[in-house]
Amino acid sequence: MILILLGPPGAGKGTQAQALMVARGLVQLSTGDMLRKAVAAKSELGLGARAAMDAGDLVSDDIVISIIAERIENKDCERGFILDGFPRTVAQAEALDLMLEQKGSQLDHVIEIRVDEEELVKRIAGRFSCAKCNENYHDTFKRPAKDGVCDVCGGTEFTRRSDDRAETVRARLEAYRNQTAPLLPYYRAKGTLRSVDGMNSIEAVTEEILEVLAT
Ligand code: ADP
Ligand code: ADP
Ligand code: ZN
Repeated sequence: MILILLGPPGAGKGTQAQALMVARGLVQLSTGDMLRKAVAAKSELGLGARAAMDAGDLVSDDIVISIIAERIENKDCERGFILDGFPRTVAQAEALDLMLEQKGSQLDHVIEIRVDEEELVKRIAGRFSCAKCNENYHDTFKRPAKDGVCDVCGGTEFTRRSDDRAETVRARLEAYRNQTAPLLPYYRAKGTLRSVDGMNSIEAVTEEILEVLAT
């Protein structure tokens, strides 16, 4: 099964991709995570992406398309995958259609996670993750069971994304409105788009997505 999770920054794409990975055994492909790793490693790719990410702008289509094209050839993608944060422009969506066509596969579902802007700002402001295993948390909505200790790996160090600052968040929300929201009519026209209410609890949103996948 090939699935796209679409939604503004902070909507819960990563959180839901993780839950679906557990529930359905699909791999999560997050272009944001891949780019952050490249930046941390100071690879050529990372050096090319860093300025745009710091500013809250999108990285060039060429860069992210080539990352995904390479990644989906990996053996772990054979049974399907969840795209989290890709595509983010119509050009990326068109490139994805072509890639899948060449592989003889196709998109099964595009799921839009809808969340009000005020809530997005709260989710982003409280977001942090385990420095060791990358498990995501929230200051109020998803705290580790034991303060300061990761539920998954027992790690005790946590990080916050440098682009989760208020000024950068505004630019990211604008990039979503201008460049990514046009994907909604694009997929609606193809008949693959379904929307879920992302304002509900993490568990309720997972339930709703699983219902969509079962249809
Ligand atoms: P969010 O949690 O805001 O949805 P991501 O982790 O998906 O953020 O992405 C972080 C940043 O990485 C984006 O602001 C953008 O600069 C870059 N990025 C990630 N995916 C893409 C993409 N598909 N196209 C262009 N830029 C991307
Ligand atoms: P995205 O990948 O779309 O940017 P994340 O999955 O990283 O979003 O979620 C952003 C923050 O909001 C995280 O700290 C996460 O724990 C929290 N969060 C995600 N979904 C919900 C939800 N349904 N209710 C409350 N908090 C949520
Ligand atoms: Zn951890």
